[in-house]
Amino acid sequence: MESNDLRKAGLKITLPRVKILEILSSAKPRHMSAEDIYKRLLESHEDIGLATVYRVLTQFEAAGLVARHHFDGVTAMFELNEGSHHDHMVCLACGRVEEFMVAGIEEKQMAIAAKYDFEIQDHSMILYGRCARCRTLASNAKDQVRVRR
Ligand SMILES: [Zn+2]
Ligand SMILES: [Zn+2]
Repeated sequence: MESNDLRKAGLKITLPRVKILEILSSAKPRHMSAEDIYKRLLESHEDIGLATVYRVLTQFEAAGLVARHHFDGVTAMFELNEGSHHDHMVCLACGRVEEFMVAGIEEKQMAIAAKYDFEIQDHSMILYGRCARCRTLASNAKDQVRVRR
């Protein structure tokens, strides 16, 4: 993604738009909140306010450049829309987001919709749980408690 994509999306090239697009393009993790992006801008000494970040993200979303998710039901998380559908797994302990795509699940959803004569426009599937790292940390903590006794 680069400035060219802004033009293609019908958006004028402005510094905040270019910078935010850059951050989202190289984002690790891929899913970021407006605050996360704002912090990155501060780190690179860009004078772009949080309100501008929100405004640009909303414009990007309207232009189809980014997708918005609410993994915790509250915080808006943004990711670059690279055109390929995927679903998400969210760790409730550390917030880590994993992406997955299973053709069989997608087909099943289409089949269910067809059965109910329902036209799908969009879907969002989020699995909630604990990632391997957090489970290891939790079991290590338990071991330490046991040792102390
Ligand atoms: Zn975790
Ligand atoms: Zn994603």
